[in-house]
Amino acid sequence: MSKLDAVRALREARFEQERSRAAKPAARPKAVPVAPPPAPAAKTARKAQPAESAAPDESLCGHRNISGRTCTREKGHAAKTHRYG
Ligand SMILES: [Zn+2]
Repeated sequence: MSKLDAVRALREARFEQERSRAAKPAARPKAVPVAPPPAPAAKTARKAQPAESAAPDESLCGHRNISGRTCTREKGHAAKTHRYG
């Protein structure tokens, strides 16, 4: 009987190990919901942009590039390219 108990104990120990192993992959799906936080950060970045455009410098071109930077050349600059400072 004691031998059976030992075998059972071994099995239960393995069950526990496999459960904890299964729990680790399960933790990865939890990491996926962590992705949403960047979204609120992007919202605050969007909020910051209107704040910048709220006080536009009329003497500047003000053209905005993809990354949200504003052209610092004079308005209607002759240069074909915008300059982002
Ligand atoms: Zn420009």
